[in-house]
Amino acid sequence: MDTRSFALSYAAENLESSLLFLKELIKIPSVSTESERSKDVSNCANFIAHRLTSIGIEHVQVYETAKHPIVYGDHLHAGSTQPTILIYGHYDVQPVDPLELWKNPPFEPTRIGDNLFARGSSDMKGQLVACLSAVDAIMKTGKFPVNIKFIIEGEEEIGSPSIKKFLQEKKDLLISDVVLNPDTGMIAADIPTIVYGLRGLAYFEIRVFGPDHDLHSGAYGGVVHNPAQVLCDLVSGMHDADGRVTLPGFYDRVLPLSDQERKELARLNMDDNYYSNQTGTSGVWGEKGYSSIERISCRPTLEVNGFLSGFTSQGAKTIIPSKAMAKISTRLVPNQKPEEVNIQLVSYLEKHAPSTVRWEVELISDGFPSISDINLPETQALASALEMIWGVKPVYKREGGSVPVTADIQQILGIDSVLTGFGLPDDNIHSPNEKLHLPTWQKGILALVHFFFNASKTIKLDIK
Ligand SMILES: [Zn+2]
Repeated sequence: MDTRSFALSYAAENLESSLLFLKELIKIPSVSTESERSKDVSNCANFIAHRLTSIGIEHVQVYETAKHPIVYGDHLHAGSTQPTILIYGHYDVQPVDPLELWKNPPFEPTRIGDNLFARGSSDMKGQLVACLSAVDAIMKTGKFPVNIKFIIEGEEEIGSPSIKKFLQEKKDLLISDVVLNPDTGMIAADIPTIVYGLRGLAYFEIRVFGPDHDLHSGAYGGVVHNPAQVLCDLVSGMHDADGRVTLPGFYDRVLPLSDQERKELARLNMDDNYYSNQTGTSGVWGEKGYSSIERISCRPTLEVNGFLSGFTSQGAKTIIPSKAMAKISTRLVPNQKPEEVNIQLVSYLEKHAPSTVRWEVELISDGFPSISDINLPETQALASALEMIWGVKPVYKREGGSVPVTADIQQILGIDSVLTGFGLPDDNIHSPNEKLHLPTWQKGILALVHFFFNASKTIKLDIK
């Protein structure tokens, strides 16, 4: 047998002990958003660090941050001709409420049939353990074929507030060729999935001010420009009849969809009916010239998240409100920049807001979009690893949501991420009764063993 086969059989023979470790990890209630859990969160970091050391990872360190610790470790013995893969993960989990909807206690992992129910089982303690088990199997049976580094943080579920500073401070320590981030899922149990792009975000609050106090609509209706009406006009003008966003220059930097991407997206079988069924709407809406899946993954969008103005309690009150506010979010795609969208929104308002009101806009939160080249050797190594286990080529997907750490790593370290994972759409992540489909998870462990061997054949890339 070759070293790959030894590692695969070791991983297959030790699935039960991988599961045992996963259960121990799940029992630590590492809910990052709850301050009363901060001891649990740091215990969880130490537990992971201990595991890394025990499987042979070196230079394991638990770095304190302003909030929750980041665990680092590496194993760099494959030589400089081999790539260095930075494995990203998070050990924190979402809160469990509403607790009464859980059929089993969320931090007591319960196996029912093929599924393991518990908070964090899928997002992402299960994925993290799949990675550690694959690494362990290779370490136990031979020489590790590539260089690996780990960063495992405890703040992903609260927006990774400490990771930027950590990346900046530890730039030299973290230098690698590519990031493996197993924190996404599969679109179905028989379709392995690689995520290579994520949308960014620019979130705004727009405030419009009219009279200095609410007015009697009988006494003043007809002479005062109503701020609620002005804001409605402004917001409704942000899309044209074709569903395109009208902020000046909004599409200037948007990368066009390649034919290869369009073909891949069409394979996903997520047509307009799929989306109207998912959302319970009578039909889909969006930018003309693009399919629903293209709009969600590869096109930028603008949404109204909330409106606030005037009298909204029971009954009638005849006023002209003194002010109005809207929350507006934009999802951005490569190569849009949140601060540029901010400027575009301001210039839209400068052009369209009437002089009868005063307005202001605030950029409340932002995150860059990211995309990696699907032809990267490590991405191809992952694709063939997934195909070796599932027997079908993986689909390549760009996600509509945002994973800010991916863009942070790309901007600060200059490293692309390849994202995958073995969670399923019905895993209830972030919801009660989160679960992990164990047969899929076990396949994932074996696929990751293949990945590390496949990646070793790649020629070392120049560090960008
Ligand atoms: Zn996650």
